[in-house]
Amino acid sequence: MVAGVTTAASVTKDPLDALEKHFGFRKFLDGQSQVVSALLSGRDALVVMPTGGGKSLCYQLPALCLEGVTVVISPLIALMKDQVDALQRKGIPATMINSTLDLNDQRDRIRRMKEGEFKLVYIAPERFRSGVFTEALREVEIALFAIDEAHCLSQWGHDFRPDYLRLGQALDKIGRPQTAAFTATATPEVRADILKHLGLREPFECVSGFSRPNLSLTITHAGGHEEKYGRVRDIIAEHKTGIIYCSTRKRVDEVALRLKEWGVSSVAYHAGMDENARSRAQDLFISKKRDVAVATNAFGMGIDRSDVRFVIHFELPGSVEAYYQEAGRAGRDGEPSVCELLFNFADTRTQEFFIEGNNPGAKTIREVYQYLQNKSDAQFEVKKTLKEINEELELKNEMALGSAISQLARRGYVERFDIAGQRLKGTRLLQPKVKTRDIELDVTALEEKDRRDRDKLKSVIDFSYSNDCRQVWILGYFGEADAAPCGSCDMCRKSGNARDLREATEAETLIVKKALSGVARMSQKTAAGWEGRFGRAKIIQMLVGSRSQDMIAARLDELSTYGLLKDTGTGYLNLLFRELASAGLIQATVGEYPLVTLTDRGSRVMAGKEEVKLRWPSAAMTAGVKPASRSAAADTPVLAEMGFDQRLFDQLKAKRNEIARNEGVPAFVVFSNATLEFFTRLRPSTVEAALRIRGVGENKAAKYAAPFLEIIRSHGK
Ligand code: ADP
Ligand code: ZN
Repeated sequence: MVAGVTTAASVTKDPLDALEKHFGFRKFLDGQSQVVSALLSGRDALVVMPTGGGKSLCYQLPALCLEGVTVVISPLIALMKDQVDALQRKGIPATMINSTLDLNDQRDRIRRMKEGEFKLVYIAPERFRSGVFTEALREVEIALFAIDEAHCLSQWGHDFRPDYLRLGQALDKIGRPQTAAFTATATPEVRADILKHLGLREPFECVSGFSRPNLSLTITHAGGHEEKYGRVRDIIAEHKTGIIYCSTRKRVDEVALRLKEWGVSSVAYHAGMDENARSRAQDLFISKKRDVAVATNAFGMGIDRSDVRFVIHFELPGSVEAYYQEAGRAGRDGEPSVCELLFNFADTRTQEFFIEGNNPGAKTIREVYQYLQNKSDAQFEVKKTLKEINEELELKNEMALGSAISQLARRGYVERFDIAGQRLKGTRLLQPKVKTRDIELDVTALEEKDRRDRDKLKSVIDFSYSNDCRQVWILGYFGEADAAPCGSCDMCRKSGNARDLREATEAETLIVKKALSGVARMSQKTAAGWEGRFGRAKIIQMLVGSRSQDMIAARLDELSTYGLLKDTGTGYLNLLFRELASAGLIQATVGEYPLVTLTDRGSRVMAGKEEVKLRWPSAAMTAGVKPASRSAAADTPVLAEMGFDQRLFDQLKAKRNEIARNEGVPAFVVFSNATLEFFTRLRPSTVEAALRIRGVGENKAAKYAAPFLEIIRSHGK
């Protein structure tokens, strides 16, 4: 460890200082500042951000600012090691405890935790299998208990880890320190599971970073297949490279054949193809030798091609999650891309068929088991393929047979095996003595999963029929409230579809002038002309007077144009900026972060020396913008006001120690250091406000709060 650079005691406690000093970042990413301030004010939290959204900083930064050690639960040893190494390189005292350590080393690290040597300790979830380990942690002052990849505790997530289920109990045992859960899985059911199993108390919930502004989402209600092919043809002609998702292998083959007839360069991909053919198809597409991939949802996990310009759903997918994940494979390079779902209600039948096939009821499972009992040979084996079995069993849904056998295998009643000399699998009874009526099935769980799958299908159907901005609908579904209309989906375009080229009204002229002067304020005038310094989103945020941390940190709130178009709304402004660009009034640099600036023509229009004709976004767009009520930011104190005043803290501490001495009790019985920290940061001025602070109950407030509030009051003067 690079010891000595920073010791646990010498860490800066002011979050904005720490951000720059320890991490070298000048600003927060979307959502980070809200989470950090919620954690620094002592709240539990559930944070959902996409991969790469910057979750680790959300607990590493508070870890530095809080007294005591932050425990981080992380499921993968390799990742854990990377994180600890990175922290140590920054000079932050961090370590990890996992199965690669022997018992002595573990004990040693726990001892050093107790002595306050570390700010962050990463712990593998399976450590909590040991009661002794959990017990030992009780003696450590844990400031924050951060659980990374928290979806691992949901059985409905894709990565269930039973060890995670123990964390709720472990938290109880170690006295419920402040707890924060982090995940990239935004589905409502996974979030509900996390809240339930961890027992988070009135947590700060934050979902952010899921919008994809460069994607234009469209849902086309298509009467039949020919209509769908018409759309496919047009989209390929316009956008060239992309993916077409189908629900069944049969449909993949059919669509692929059609593309071939059209002479489109393409590959087909589905799970029914053999391994070689699949990886060949994947390679051809990834290496850009083919333009279009036609695939079932089996295609995707490993595809990494950033210039996918369109994603077409030839049929309705089974859930909003699947839809957005697949659509999200478009435009990874940040360039504008289109996603189109070709909806036909008849296709919902295919999805219902899948649900039935994936969720055989207890009755079907027992029927299959009885069949295996009847047909097994002396070795308790049934050497028949699923297809052969079903020819005799005649289940209505052949998929259900495979699912039923999986259920039986999961419960240890059967296993699949390779039939010698053939490339086929048979089924073997593992507990042949167990009678059909005695097999144990979790009927409630089976029914629950069936119900959830049906709910998901219902949601994606609702989505297809909704008339709201597609992006807003999806973000709302994931829990990201108050998003502004995207301005580019079919619904947004429709509400602006009366747009025609005309001269500005007086009001519009004013808006354009204000918008252009905003651009000017955020650019630099040089001898060579205008030079951009910010992107479109930032400029719009500034114009609408956003209170985001970004704005304030960059002091954009001090510009004379700040909030000039407060009443116009970002949805309208996004459309307007697009039009200003196509009318040649503003321009953007090319590159990863396009910087926007004025053109000469733009300068003249701004100065009122020239009139413009634009395709005006309809005023309906402004009406469509929801006010940013109850946004995450409004819920928590502003971070900039949450610096750490060491002098105030010391005064509060002295008072606390004095009271403890007088009453002959240990200091923490009055208030813990952590609670005093929250007093320092939040500066409550009333008993009610103090009651909202972690560690201040009714009793303590009545008994002790007054002198502390008095210190805070006089400190401000
Ligand atoms: P996640 O855990 O959400 O997938 P990470 O925590 O690994 O994301 O962060 C993703 C990347 O973003 C990292 O390279 C990290 O250094 C960077 N990052 C995090 N916060 C900031 C910030 N405030 N400014 C700039 N880069 C940041
Ligand atoms: Zn929209």
